Amino acid sequence: MIIVLLGPPGAGKGTQCELLARERRLARVSTGELLREAAARHTALGELARPYVERGELVPDEVMIGVIREWLTENAHAERAIFDGFPRTITQAEALDGVLADLGRQVDHAVYLRVPTEELIRRLSGRYVCPRCGATYHLATSPPRVPGRCDICGASLTQRPDDRIEVIRHRLEVYLTQTMPVVDYYRRKGILIEVDGARPIETVFADIQAALPPVESN
Ligand code: AMP
Repeated sequence: MIIVLLGPPGAGKGTQCELLARERRLARVSTGELLREAAARHTALGELARPYVERGELVPDEVMIGVIREWLTENAHAERAIFDGFPRTITQAEALDGVLADLGRQVDHAVYLRVPTEELIRRLSGRYVCPRCGATYHLATSPPRVPGRCDICGASLTQRPDDRIEVIRHRLEVYLTQTMPVVDYYRRKGILIEVDGARPIETVFADIQAALPPVESN
């Protein structure tokens, strides 16, 4: 089973992806996370991607398709997988279908988290992350116990460079023009599951779980 998770930045893809991966024992790939790790390690991919990520632009399709092809080859044993942040363009969606078809596989479900723009801006502009353990916080809704410090490992919290307000606005524009068509791509294929993502994490998760086939049979 292959699931792709779609939605604007700040829709909660990372959170729902983690919950789904844990509950359904899915291998998880987040292209945004992969790029941030590559940038932190100063690999060739990281250096190439950094300027795009920092400006809120999409990394070129051929680069991202290469990343996913490599991941699928290295994880050929992973029968169940969930993708967070890929595909983000029609070209990527078509390439993913091609790579999967070569492996005798296909995208089975596309989960789309719908969230209004004002809510996305509120979520992203208050988001702080722990650079050491990856925990995320929100200044208004889930602040750390000690301001500026991670509850789990004590590291100093940081804001993602692309969570600055001017970059957030640009990421949302890029999403509308380049990624929204991907939602329609899966809708036309009849495999789109549309969920209201503006509700509490557990409610959204329960809705997604109810729309997917029961865990025993996937
Ligand atoms: P995310 O963590 O999913 O919000 O991704 C952060 C940034 O990584 C995006 O704003 C893009 O610059 C880049 N990125 C992640 N996934 C992709 C993708 N599939 N195609 C192009 N760029 C991507």
